[in-house]
Parts: sequence; structure tokens; C-alpha cells
Amino acid sequence: MKKVLIAEDNPTNRELLRELLEIRGYTVSEACNGQEALLMVEQAPPDILLLDIGMPVLDGFAVVRKLRENPRFASLPVVAVTAYAMQGDREKIMCSGFNGYLSKPVNASLLGEELDRLLAPFKTQTTPPTQSIKEQSGAQAVRATSEGT
Ligand code: MN
Repeated sequence: MKKVLIAEDNPTNRELLRELLEIRGYTVSEACNGQEALLMVEQAPPDILLLDIGMPVLDGFAVVRKLRENPRFASLPVVAVTAYAMQGDREKIMCSGFNGYLSKPVNASLLGEELDRLLAPFKTQTTPPTQSIKEQSGAQAVRATSEGT
């Protein structure tokens, strides 16, 4: 059974997400702030992290940045869950290390689609953030090769 960690400071939102996830058969754990989320990921890595952006102690951007610094969690699927509705936020989020984006209130079928997409055994890597990550690592590989010669 796939494990989902919800990192969200609002208890009502946590409860709603938990219900949506448990209906779909996921095992759910909850963190109330960014720091707790990091500790829980290290102690019991989930299959996917649903990460609120606005949280005390550490916000979602800080959490995903710290996770990506650790090779162990470089490819952990992380979905931003945010009420921020300003234009441009989606782009900012997708350039910050997240694999997906859900706006609040979370739509049950969109949540299901994101989970299916990110937890599928053979992921199709066609989303813009994945491509840009691949391009970046490709560029680094080229640089490393030319330095070596
Ligand atoms: Mn919040």
C-alpha cells in the first residue's frame, strides 16, 4: 500500500486530504509544519509528499529545497498544495523542485490524477519540470565530460 505524507498546518485541510486519500486506499501520515515534515520524511520516507506552501517554521519552498539537497530524496515525488491563486505561482512552484501542483480546495479527481501520474510504475516524463531537470542534469554532464578531457 502506498504511503502519503500530508504536510499542512491547517487541521481541517489535513482532515479533508486524509479522507480523500484513505478512500483511494493510501496509508496517510500527517505533519503540521515544514520541519516536522522533513523529520518524518527522513524517519519513514513516504511514496509521495503533499506539501502545503504556507506553513510555520519552514514553508513548502524551504522543505522541497532541503529535500532536493539530499540525494536520498532527490526524486521523491512532491506535490505542492496551495491556496495561492496569483498568476505565476504555478510556474514558480514548478521551477522550485516540485513534481506537481494542486490548488485548494483540492479537487478529488485532480488529486487522484496527480497521484496516479506520479506513482505509476512507468512514469511518462513529459511534464515541463521533469524536462527542465533533465536538461539541467544533461548540461552538467556535458560540462563534466568536457572538463575531464
Ligand atoms: Mn498553510
